[in-house]
Amino acid sequence: MKKYDVVVIGAGPGGYVTAIRCAQLGLNTACVESWINDEGKPVLGGTCLNVGCVPSKALLDSSHHFDHIKHQSNVHGINVTGVSMDVNKMVSRKTKIIKTLTQGISGLFKKNKIDWLRGQAKIIGNKKIEISPTNEAHDEKTVVLANHIIIATGSVPTKIPSASIDDKLIVDSTGALKFNEVPRRLGVIGAGVIGLELGSVWNRLGSEVIVLEALPNFLSLVDPQVAKEAEKSLREQGLDIRLGAKVTGSGSNNREVTINYDDVNGKQQITVDKLIVAVGRSPNTAGLGADECGLELDQRGFIIVDDHCNTSLENIYAIGDVVRGPMLAHKASEEGVAIAERISGKPGYINYEKIPWVIYTWPEIAWVGKTEEQLKSGGIEYRTGSFPFMATGRAKTMGETNGFVKILGDAKTDRILGVHIFGPSASELIAEAVVTMEFDGCTEDLARTIHAHPTLSEAMHEAALAVDNRTIHL
Ligand code: FAD
Ligand code: NAD
Repeated sequence: MKKYDVVVIGAGPGGYVTAIRCAQLGLNTACVESWINDEGKPVLGGTCLNVGCVPSKALLDSSHHFDHIKHQSNVHGINVTGVSMDVNKMVSRKTKIIKTLTQGISGLFKKNKIDWLRGQAKIIGNKKIEISPTNEAHDEKTVVLANHIIIATGSVPTKIPSASIDDKLIVDSTGALKFNEVPRRLGVIGAGVIGLELGSVWNRLGSEVIVLEALPNFLSLVDPQVAKEAEKSLREQGLDIRLGAKVTGSGSNNREVTINYDDVNGKQQITVDKLIVAVGRSPNTAGLGADECGLELDQRGFIIVDDHCNTSLENIYAIGDVVRGPMLAHKASEEGVAIAERISGKPGYINYEKIPWVIYTWPEIAWVGKTEEQLKSGGIEYRTGSFPFMATGRAKTMGETNGFVKILGDAKTDRILGVHIFGPSASELIAEAVVTMEFDGCTEDLARTIHAHPTLSEAMHEAALAVDNRTIHL
């Protein structure tokens, strides 16, 4: 029986990064992965690379180009006629990107001498893992031993009885990444991160998109000022967002889908060509043998871990989407790196307060730290500084003036407590805020930092100056 220092279960951004860091630290490492792609081939990369972050951003980027060429070219003096979208080409570009990146991970595994064990892992006892092959019918189960087991089995789309996935007309996020034509009318259940990102993709390409959200507030996780501006902008782009819409049932006749929902005005019905169900994701522990080995799960099925990702079982850790905390690729990766370092006797550590979020609508939404509501409810006194992109030269030259940066600083210490951005390239701009906060920086630190001109980052600088009422360009 082969024995390893570490066996990682799952090769998403949590698992594969953990395995690489373990190997770098000299630990004899294997990673078990069961994913089979649409071509029937085993692949690494998990949700993020195969059906999550990467493919959704590929489609967002393609649809953004299309939208820009159609609606912005003229402003720049570029006359373009007969613009059309080849959806199959867009989707195959996405598939090619996935292929390159997932193959890249197998290259990294080889380089770092990590054994990729293909199949479904089950923990069968103290330090023992059984691996069942997923598509190689003739292979037998194997058992390996590990001193440390790191579970990174991720999450799967949450199902709801009122809209059962048929993978034809009613799809989850995975199905929504491979439509082969633009649906004329598209329904989306859930105005969360996935609903808005994928709703935006198909809206830009010409679908009439109706988004049904059960909650009465739009993006309740996000700073209310950002949420308000984002809602306005997305509605202007054509997304028909219906809040307080509780879906009660749906049915399809192989051509279209009828959705029934209740809202403040009573019972409603809509008919669409395709329906995306995007109501959250659930932890994935199927087939892991949690019950048999005594691994404790909470009521929602997440593996219970402490602040350092230790599970209820000795030398077994869990990270990423399968445990508490935000379901984000970078959170999963950093939890894994911290465990790898602790196993190797180093001080691995995660700062959960400083995990950035990005929603890749256009303009983008990005934030780190606390919202004003959280500070108010925590009784923390703060000062704010905001600056609109409209007042920066670069945003004007780009024709991307919608949005603003808002910085929240502690009223006494001036430490930055939160940064909220709605605007162009917010996904990139937020990194400056994360770094400053990681070093416990103050708004004054950002205010005294020289920012290149003309750049979008000048809005960060001016927002920091605004905390002390000394913006220059407003
Ligand atoms: P996963 O990526 O889910 O990987 C888990 C892996 O474990 C899978 O490969 C699975 O096959 C394997 N596995 C499970 N059980 C077993 C077993 N028993 N044996 C062997 N292997 C097993 N996050 C961001 O930060 N940014 C984004 O832009 C973003 N966009 C997203 C877009 C979409 C459409 C979706 C669906 C998600 C998106 N996410 C994004 C979320 C992100 O994908 C997840 O947070 C991230 O993938 C979690 O990583 P993980 O390693 O915990 O799990
Ligand atoms: P989500 O939690 O962001 O949003 C789900 C939405 O569906 C919520 O607003 C919820 O109120 C609503 N909802 C739930 N049940 C409903 C019902 N029956 N009818 C109508 N609305 C209902 O979940 P998601 O969009 O599915 O994404 C899952 C997770 O994946 C996210 O939380 C995020 O962590 C991750 N993700 C991240 C990114 C990113 O980082 N850019 C992108 C996509 C996904």
